[in-house]
Amino acid sequence: MHRVLVIGAGPAGLAHAFWRSRDPRTEVVVLEASDRPGGNVLSERRDGYLCEWGPQAVRPTAAFEELTAALGVEDLLVPSRPSVSRRWVGRRGRLIEMPSGPGGFLTSGVVSLPSRLRAIGELFVRSSEGAVDESVADFVARRFGKGMVPLAGAMVSGIFAGKVEDLEMRSAFPAMLDIERESGSVLKGMAKRAKARKARGESSKPSLVTFDRGMDGLVAALCGHVAPRCEAPAQRIGREGSRWVVELASGERVDGDELVVTVPAWIAAELLGDVDADLTAELAGIPSAPIVNVYLGQDRDAGNDRLRGFGFLLDQSEATAVLGTIYASELFDGHAPDGKSLFRVMLGGARHPGVLDADEQVVRDAAAAALVSYGRAADEFDFVHTVRIPRAIPQYVRGHGARMERIDARVARHPGLVLAGNSYRGVALGDQLGRPTPLDVAEVA
Ligand SMILES: Cc1cc2nc3c(=O)[nH]c(=O)nc-3n(C[C@H](O)[C@H](O)[C@H](O)COP(=O)(O)OP(=O)(O)OC[C@H]3O[C@@H](n4cnc5c(N)ncnc54)[C@H](O)[C@@H]3O)c2cc1C
Repeated sequence: MHRVLVIGAGPAGLAHAFWRSRDPRTEVVVLEASDRPGGNVLSERRDGYLCEWGPQAVRPTAAFEELTAALGVEDLLVPSRPSVSRRWVGRRGRLIEMPSGPGGFLTSGVVSLPSRLRAIGELFVRSSEGAVDESVADFVARRFGKGMVPLAGAMVSGIFAGKVEDLEMRSAFPAMLDIERESGSVLKGMAKRAKARKARGESSKPSLVTFDRGMDGLVAALCGHVAPRCEAPAQRIGREGSRWVVELASGERVDGDELVVTVPAWIAAELLGDVDADLTAELAGIPSAPIVNVYLGQDRDAGNDRLRGFGFLLDQSEATAVLGTIYASELFDGHAPDGKSLFRVMLGGARHPGVLDADEQVVRDAAAAALVSYGRAADEFDFVHTVRIPRAIPQYVRGHGARMERIDARVARHPGLVLAGNSYRGVALGDQLGRPTPLDVAEVA
């Protein structure tokens, strides 16, 4: 029997194990450090509120749809309410609704009129290759004008919790560069893609989905097919002849023909120290940013329009460590008790890493203050809960693409070794679920 060792039972490890174990000639062993599978996907229920630690929802990408179909759990999926298409951005102390189309954009106050006109002028900006490590800020300035960079910064912090001037365009948003290359203009290309989606009947699909019990429904579904060994932290990885050997903290050794390492890059760097020092150095160079989630619950204020929709993101120059807020109970039913609202305020990121160590009261006060001042929420909360995630989101900073090329070259020297997970090519959950290409077993042997 061909044995595949998977280290880490987060979404990447579980999905990888699920797909590989469909081949009856393959035995898959999943080793997980913590006492539960799921990694950053954790749905915690408290006092009738559903607090998601990681993803609040997932975009139903092709990989996600293929996986849920293979798992047979499509009927457990819950679409987001249509109102989540409403999004807000906080600038200069107030919330402005994000316009939904170019017409609305021109009349909105989301940025100054000259900046809006310049942004629409993107249609006529000649396509020119940016630097290979062009930052997201430089890309936005090149295509849409400098006036759009703060808005892009707010949107980027909602995905990467990162700095728009540090993140690398080709690694963080490769699809945008493809669109620019194909159509000569991002706006033109996006309009073309939207039209094609409509023609395929895809525009009526929900933009986000969750599971009936919360995002950990995905973990439960995967664990119906894959049985990870929890509380089995890998401590060292070695090679003995053609076999991979993983030494656990308990001293036990597990061996296999292939090794799929899905832990975050900084942990992979520690584990692979004996295998390849150059690879280890590259992996250790991928930074990550912390997130502090503060969940606030209160009576639902049905008359407050600012608290309807997906939530708000703040311009990175606002004087707060708050990145934004998801209106969790507006996205899906059942995430708050009847008559209540649940808000998930996120703080920290690459710009405010110090918030990770701030006092509990300081963090809670900052979260509540942002919700009250931007969303005009009532200043009384009957539910407050905080979760701190030290190395939450990998940062694809400038040079990440070149680093990935070096990592690929090092990995290619070690037959049977695979690196997967969100440290490398896609931070979102949906990016971790694709069907892996099985390695050529003859090549591995
Ligand atoms: C605050 C936050 C919000 C997010 N929001 C969204 C969102 O809205 N939409 C979206 O698509 N994505 C979101 N994500 C990203 C999503 O959670 C990740 O893409 C996904 O969890 C990555 O999966 P993974 O398996 O690569 O890593 P992880 O989830 O980090 O899993 C890695 C696993 O490896 C285990 N491990 C670590 N060390 C060892 C060891 N030595 N031995 C064995 N096992 C080990 C860990 O315990 C863990 O279970 C969010 C993430 C965070 C943190």
